[in-house]
Amino acid sequence: MHCRYRKLVDIDSVVRHVGVMHELMPALGVRHYSERMSCPKCGERGMFIWSLSVEDPEPVSGGSQYQINAWENGVLVATLCRASEFELAIAAFDVAVKVHQGKQITLQERARVLRDSYVKDAG
Ligand SMILES: [Zn+2]
Repeated sequence: MHCRYRKLVDIDSVVRHVGVMHELMPALGVRHYSERMSCPKCGERGMFIWSLSVEDPEPVSGGSQYQINAWENGVLVATLCRASEFELAIAAFDVAVKVHQGKQITLQERARVLRDSYVKDAG
């Protein structure tokens, strides 16, 4: 009954198919765009769409241009947090420095380093 057909789609063609100005989240009384699509294999209506994660994603809207990164010996080991607002990023940076005591933590706006736990009064 539930077929598990999978297909790689690009979001542009999905938008062209269902039309623009469609709610991403299900809205009461409105048929969700995923229900307007049918499976090419079994013809059932409805589908789930997952996005593939990419290494360095570009923000879809607004953007999370601030990153809290953890480093070991000059090598990026983890992005702990992304934030779209500077005040949130600063707060996250302060918390990350406390949580990861002794580790090098940076607050970056893309490639630009705004704070560095190893450098006093950076920024
Ligand atoms: Zn199917």
